[in-house]
Amino acid sequence: MQLTYKIFVIKNLQTDRKIIEAQAAEKEAENDAFRIFIKHSNGIKIDELVHEINAVVEPAIDCTACGACCKVLMINVKPEEAQRLSQHLELNSSDFKNKYIEESLQGQLIINQMPCHFLEGTRCSVYEHRFTECREFPHLGRANFKDRMFGTLIHYAMCPIIFNVVEELKIRTGFLNEL
Ligand code: SF4
Ligand code: SF4
Repeated sequence: MQLTYKIFVIKNLQTDRKIIEAQAAEKEAENDAFRIFIKHSNGIKIDELVHEINAVVEPAIDCTACGACCKVLMINVKPEEAQRLSQHLELNSSDFKNKYIEESLQGQLIINQMPCHFLEGTRCSVYEHRFTECREFPHLGRANFKDRMFGTLIHYAMCPIIFNVVEELKIRTGFLNEL
């Protein structure tokens, strides 16, 4: 992506969550049509575009000023991550688990509260020790966007990164010209 184009994308980012929510309500039918458009597109090309756009959008959005996903996501926790965070908080593992973690029937560890215990205002109070799932959301660097688009759009009204990547993707794929 050329520098001038990157600057253009960054300058046009929408980060106001109220505006994003209002636009999401307005664009519901458009997004349904876009999902069908993507379904019939080349998955490899779409992944290339999503990764390219995401590489510009994600670093330009300040998650510490948002924290919206920390209020609604059910976060899976790996045992070693629980161990690391309990050490950081100077708690023994069983106190840490009793306080913050629930175990599913399948033995999966999850944070036992939404919003997350560690969210303070819009910031993660354990940012350096946050879990892999927190670090990887909204997963736009992964492959196979095409098959994951439905799940991604569920968070379109909530997450400025998703909103901006999807809106730029509508332009870059030529979808908007077809409306
Ligand atoms: S650990 Fe931090 S980043 Fe992860 S959900 Fe909780 S507040 Fe958010
Ligand atoms: S990942 Fe999205 S919803 Fe979560 S804090 Fe960052 S911008 Fe907000």
